[in-house]
Amino acid sequence: MKDPLHSTGAGLSELRRAVEGVLDELSWSPPCELGTLLDQITRRCGKRISLLPAPLPRDGAGGLVIERVHDLVIVVDQSLPSLLQEHVIMHEAAHVLFGHRGTSVGDLTRDELDELDPDVVRDAQRLVKRDGYSAVEEKVAEIAAALMWSRADRARRSVRPAARSAAVAEANARFAEALLARRPR
Ligand SMILES: [Zn+2]
Repeated sequence: MKDPLHSTGAGLSELRRAVEGVLDELSWSPPCELGTLLDQITRRCGKRISLLPAPLPRDGAGGLVIERVHDLVIVVDQSLPSLLQEHVIMHEAAHVLFGHRGTSVGDLTRDELDELDPDVVRDAQRLVKRDGYSAVEEKVAEIAAALMWSRADRARRSVRPAARSAAVAEANARFAEALLARRPR
């Protein structure tokens, strides 16, 4: 039997089942912070995952993964609302979790990343567009991000007040913390 995660002919429900199977291997216990999820993916892929908000081209995907020698940097469009940034990070993290081969943009040093200017990111984005993920990989990442989101949401709701604005404020604060804690070194 072909692995639905890697074959082009897999239907949506088949893909979804396969993705759920992998997500079932991770812990989704409350409060299900983004950092905890990234830690678990780090343990599976062997590389620390750093987060870097930066300006990205408008027509791009909103995020990309840059692979360096010692870590993986998920760059996320800093102009997106924070909840959307979290979704983008889950999408990019899914590419990592499922072992999709992204594009490594040379080996950026810490200094270069600190100064990551729009041109560098534009170059990276161009590479991603040219050598990027396959259509199946994009589909898997999108399904996985949606399922991660709903699992995290369910876990968080189970411990948080129902008041929506408070929950959103908390989610924003948590997200800001995750960004700070995961700055590329
Ligand atoms: Zn993608």
